Amino acid sequence: MLNVKNVSFQYNETPILKNISFSLQKGDHLSIIGESGSGKSTLLKIIYGLYHLEKGKLFWDEKPMLGPNYNIVPGEPFIKYVAQDYDLMPFITVEENIGKFLSNFYPRKKKKRIAELLELVGMETYAKVKPTDLSGGQQQRVALAKALAREPELLLLDEPFSNIDNFKKNKLRRDIFTYLKQENIACITATHDNTDSLSYADFTMVLKAGKTVAFETPETLFNQPKSKYVASLFGEVNEVPSNLLFADNFSTKKVLLYPHELEIVPSSAIKVIVKNSYFQGTHYLIEAFRKNKAFLFTHPTNLAKNTEVCIAPQKEVLAERAQ
Ligand code: ADP
Repeated sequence: MLNVKNVSFQYNETPILKNISFSLQKGDHLSIIGESGSGKSTLLKIIYGLYHLEKGKLFWDEKPMLGPNYNIVPGEPFIKYVAQDYDLMPFITVEENIGKFLSNFYPRKKKKRIAELLELVGMETYAKVKPTDLSGGQQQRVALAKALAREPELLLLDEPFSNIDNFKKNKLRRDIFTYLKQENIACITATHDNTDSLSYADFTMVLKAGKTVAFETPETLFNQPKSKYVASLFGEVNEVPSNLLFADNFSTKKVLLYPHELEIVPSSAIKVIVKNSYFQGTHYLIEAFRKNKAFLFTHPTNLAKNTEVCIAPQKEVLAERAQ
C-alpha cells in the first residue's frame, strides 16, 4: 500500500534522512523509534507530504505521491497526521473541532460519530469545552479523535501519548490501537516510549542519525538486538566480553545482555561487588562492579553494599547466545 523508496532528505546542508526504504500493507502498524534528533518526525512529515523530496520516491498503491509542489492543500487526503502541536482551533468547542471535517448533510449521523469518538478517547464530558481550557493531554486526545473522524487509510502519530499521564495512557493506547486494527487503518507512530513500539506495533523501525539500523518485529528486535544502540532503546543493557561467558572462548566479541537476563549463581567468571540497589517495584536493579566495569542485573531483593556475588546469564539465554 505505502512504499517508501530510497528517501533522503535535508533541510539545509546537513543530511537528515539517508536512503530510507520500507513498505507497509493495509492495516499494518509500524513504530519508528530512535533517539531524539534521529529524524522520526521528519520522516512522518515527508510521508504526509509536507516537504518536497529531491531524492527518493513515495508510492501509494503503486501510484507516485507527488508532495507539496503538486497538492494545493498540504498533505495527502487519505492520510491523517497528528503532530506534536495538535493543530486544534482554539475558539470552537471540542465537538466542533472533532466534527470539522464531517459533513453537515446528515446531522444525526454527525452527532453520533462525534459521540463515538469522544468515548473512544475518554473525553465525553468535554464536548462543549474549548481547547484553550484543556490540559495538554486532553488536547492530545481531541487531536486523535479529530484525526479519526473521517477515517484515514493511514494515520501518522508523532509521540501520540507523550502528554497523557500514565494512569490514563494505558487504557487510551489499548483502545486506540484496537480501534485502528478493527477498522483496518494502517498506522505509523514515531515514539520514544518502548511500550508503544513493543506492544502495539507489527514492525519496528529503528533510526539512528537518519539511517535505518533495524526493521524487525518487536519480538525479534527486543530478543536479538543487533547493536547496543538498539538494545538501549529498551532500557539498560550490559556489554559482556564473550570470554567471560563461554569457556575456551578467546574472542573479543561482546554479548549484549539485559539486566533481567543475568542472575546470581554459585560460581562464575563474573564475580562482582555490589555498589547500589535500586528499587523498581517488582524487583531491584543491582549495580555491581568487576574491576572497573559496571554490571547491571535484577534481583528480587535488596543486596547490601560491598556484597560479593557471582553472576551469569540464565541458562536458556546463554544457550541462545552461544548459537
Ligand atoms: P526526531 O523526531 O527523531 O526527534 P526530527 O525529525 O525532529 O527528529 O529532527 C531531525 C533533525 O532535523 C534534527 O537535527 C533537527 O534539529 C533537524 N530539524 C528538524 N526540523 C527542522 C527544520 N524545520 N529546519 C531545520 N532543521 C530541522
